[in-house]
Amino acid sequence: MNHQRSLRRALPGFVQVTKRFTPYLHEQRLLIAGSFVALLGEVVFRMLEPWPIKFIFDHLFHTKRHGGSTLFSFVDRLDPSLIILGSSLAIVVITGFRAIFDYANVIGFARVGNRVLSEVRRDLYRHLQALPLAFHTKARSGDLIVRVMSDVNMVKDVAVNAVLPLVADGLILVSTMGVMFFLNWKLALLAFAVLPGFWLLTSRLTVRIRETAREQRKRESAMAATAAETIGAIRVVQALTLEGLFTGRFHRKNDESQRQDLKGVRLTAALGRSIGFLIAASTALVLAYGARLVRTDELSPGELLVFLTYLKQAFRPVRDLAKYSGRIAKAAAAGERVIHLLDQTPEIRDLPGAVPAPAFRGDIQLDRVSFAYEPGRLIFDDVDLVVEACQRVAVVGPSGIGKSTLASLLLRLYDPTRGRVLIDGGDIRDYTLATLRRQISVVLQDTVLFAASARENIAYGAPGASDLEIEEAARLANAHDFIMALPQGYETVLGERGATLSGGQRQRIAIARAAIRQAPILILDEPTTGLDEENERDVIEALERLSRGRTTFLITHDLGLASGADVIFYLERGRVLESGTHEELVIADGRYAAVHRMQTTSRARFAGMT
Ligand code: ATP
Repeated sequence: MNHQRSLRRALPGFVQVTKRFTPYLHEQRLLIAGSFVALLGEVVFRMLEPWPIKFIFDHLFHTKRHGGSTLFSFVDRLDPSLIILGSSLAIVVITGFRAIFDYANVIGFARVGNRVLSEVRRDLYRHLQALPLAFHTKARSGDLIVRVMSDVNMVKDVAVNAVLPLVADGLILVSTMGVMFFLNWKLALLAFAVLPGFWLLTSRLTVRIRETAREQRKRESAMAATAAETIGAIRVVQALTLEGLFTGRFHRKNDESQRQDLKGVRLTAALGRSIGFLIAASTALVLAYGARLVRTDELSPGELLVFLTYLKQAFRPVRDLAKYSGRIAKAAAAGERVIHLLDQTPEIRDLPGAVPAPAFRGDIQLDRVSFAYEPGRLIFDDVDLVVEACQRVAVVGPSGIGKSTLASLLLRLYDPTRGRVLIDGGDIRDYTLATLRRQISVVLQDTVLFAASARENIAYGAPGASDLEIEEAARLANAHDFIMALPQGYETVLGERGATLSGGQRQRIAIARAAIRQAPILILDEPTTGLDEENERDVIEALERLSRGRTTFLITHDLGLASGADVIFYLERGRVLESGTHEELVIADGRYAAVHRMQTTSRARFAGMT
């Protein structure tokens, strides 16, 4: 138990990280077994390496001792020139075999590392996309990208280039110790008397190195997150001349990260220095006592030489541990970050027993729905709402009242805290997420276009759609003409955020994307906000066509736009305060009518100004 704990400290956190990745390693067991055999081969040949030198050496000094054993006594009967020739040849052969086994295990383990890396990264990426919006709204995208790309890579890199050599070194240490005790147990005891000192030093310092690495990784990630946010919002940054502010912030984090890195390097160097001193002490002890044994004829000079060579080999793992401890600590910190992400469970997922949703007609009901993003802050309180298939519904109300949240509940991006969301009478939680969402199209205020061609951007609405369907959807969305006018028509690659298109054009691509989905339910969340009049007209016309025959939720602040809906829901104080047609609500002279009056007056005033 104690030993295990100190081992964990010596390989900071890496044991836990490795444990978590064991299922991935399990799939590669054949390759691992093969590589391990090659590793054993390498260890065996490495153990044989010093022996030819011993024979030559002992022959030169005319000594005939073989570690107290008769194992090699046949060598004494051989012709001296044969001993020298045979030993020299043996050096070449042994080194050759060692090189072959070395190559085989290095390549084998590198392959294991690469396969595991790509699987972990794939799973992490998939997992990241499955994580709930609640997680993504809090997480920083730059940090997540660092985890998927650089953290995973760092774990693999260190596993292959540092931990595996250490495993090999460990095997060498054990075998070397065996042979050293076999050669001369007293000398071996003396040599390894310093081991507890190593253990103490390593476990004490590696814990500190690990803490430093963790801190540094956190800071680097924060830097990446700041950079990603700034670049993502570069228009705003430049418009508000925030470059200096963000550069300062970035620079401070960079500075802190470098300071942590230097601290890690200093600790690693201190560990290396102390270990170097202990090795020197052990070598001096062995040399002093060994020389005495040679003088009293208890040991041959060749054996002392073999002993010293083994001693150097035996301490390699300890030296390597010091050398790699900084990198291992960083990788352990990176591994912990990867695991932390993998351990986040998607709250919204297919429930046990979820079935594929049938083709929806589009009747929607909210049955006593309450919802809160955070405990104690209710957005909806016992909301009842019924919408018939193919009805066009407008959802209006003050800013921040929960209109977009309603759309999120329909899409099952969140589950109600209480109550049920029903489509065609069935609770949406009973259906698989994919089959539910496939039947809902969405057009948001801020359309995200991907860095792909116009054709692909539309086809994302229904992957696998034919060119004809894409064109039809574009025509319906009033987008065909402007797409054809782009330099490469449908093949034109749009900017990452659709920056090459105007707001209205982006919206029309989004409408085409929604149209191609052929979904019975349509959600339009402020689809015309920020558009000029001409663009707005085009977009409204396209939306009008798109919403025909579909249950449509239009979320808007613009009561003029809402007035054409079959039913208007006016939300306030966590409830549906008023509902009815525009005319009914105006006659009722409630909150809706008041807001409508206000909007009409301010529009008239604004028109007077311009
Ligand atoms: P607007 O008209 O300004 O777009 P809205 O009526 O669509 O507003 P929602 O976006 O639904 O309002 O937000 C409702 C409330 O929930 C707001 O007070 C908002 O701050 C809060 N909110 C929205 N998303 C989250 C979230 N992911 N986590 C916590 N609170 C949230």
